Amino acid sequence: MKRRDALRNLSVWPVAGLAIGTTFPFDSVMGAPAPSPARRNLFKELGIRTFINAAGTYTAMSGSLMHEEVLDAIRSTSHEFAMIDEVQDKVGEKIAALCHSEAATVTAGCWSALVLGTAGVLTGMDPKKVAQLPHLEGMKSEVLVQKSHNSGYVHALTNTGVKMVEVETPEDVEKAVNENIAMMWFLNYAGPNGKITDKDWVALGKKHNIPTMIDMAADATPVENMWKFNDMGFDLVCVSGGKGIRGPQSTGILMGRKDLIAAARLNAPPRGGNIGRGMKVNKEEILGMYVALEKFINLDHIKQWKIWEDRVALIAAAANKIAGVTTIISVPAVANRTPTLNISWDTTKVKFNNGGLQEKLRKGDPSIEVAGGNENSINITSWNLQPGEEKIVAKRLKEELGKASV
Ligand SMILES: *Cc1c(COP(=O)(O)O)cnc(C)c1O
Repeated sequence: MKRRDALRNLSVWPVAGLAIGTTFPFDSVMGAPAPSPARRNLFKELGIRTFINAAGTYTAMSGSLMHEEVLDAIRSTSHEFAMIDEVQDKVGEKIAALCHSEAATVTAGCWSALVLGTAGVLTGMDPKKVAQLPHLEGMKSEVLVQKSHNSGYVHALTNTGVKMVEVETPEDVEKAVNENIAMMWFLNYAGPNGKITDKDWVALGKKHNIPTMIDMAADATPVENMWKFNDMGFDLVCVSGGKGIRGPQSTGILMGRKDLIAAARLNAPPRGGNIGRGMKVNKEEILGMYVALEKFINLDHIKQWKIWEDRVALIAAAANKIAGVTTIISVPAVANRTPTLNISWDTTKVKFNNGGLQEKLRKGDPSIEVAGGNENSINITSWNLQPGEEKIVAKRLKEELGKASV
């Protein structure tokens, strides 16, 4: 294109571009795509170690990797402004429809879904109560929890000022119920350890007219879980966006009863003067979460599962070539449901010095992270592996186990 033509087009196109909502006027104006600027490799630039993640969706390891569609959603919504409440309203409706809930909102992780959901139960739509948290004068102040569910995650709830009251049996619940009980909380991964099932927990809540909440942060798989607990009747369901769903790592979803979601949002950004103001999610993350959820629900989960299984089988086969090594592939009953490979070794036949196998893989090239490392075993999952990385993990494992054989 001649310079004169280019200039003439410049005077016309930006307006037309705006009219159709184009947000890259200067790329499209010139007709030809602009050469993409050289990408900075910030990991290299700052000397940050990257690694093959054969461990799992650990927050400390940056969770999971977003699909291209999610990155597109983030990029394509970065160039214009929108009102956060409107983004939340529209995305909330879509998420609610996908997950069979009355309403939904995107939060800053499952943790903040737990905080905001609890806050909403306590305050309802009363702005004075919202301003008052975590001081609970005039509000209910206790949450029922099964003893086996009373883990570190309850700190999300106690942030709002509530105290946890432990129960073990349905009879305990009957005895504990009083005017002060704001909510009944269920931790999905602790389900098999408790004496009261999820269904019975919901039934007890309904009987006593106490809202129930479930934390299913790391239970995106199987995909039916995305609506199972809403269908079951939990009033609030909390899930991580950046674990199995592969949304932005800083997101989560709070879904459930319409009145409770509205109340939770009073305690959340963009409003201030509340306990949730620090739990901000911007439009790109909210929309990225929506696209990730949609993609996740529409995945061919049978095919996906087979890929995960084939990868761990390939890694197990390589490790099994070394004498004294035992491999077991299993699937956790709850939480992080994905084929999980345990590799253990007879320490009289395979001997590691200086930190063991986990450390050798971490320090190797490429660096590989595995989970649960101790002196005679490690755990591996394959859902965070990129295609082909399973072969690298298999090769490195065989090398290190081989070197340590005595
Ligand atoms: C990961 C996790 C959380 C916290 O979720 P984030 O999305 O990281 O905020 C809460 N509860 C359980 C059981 C978890 O596994």
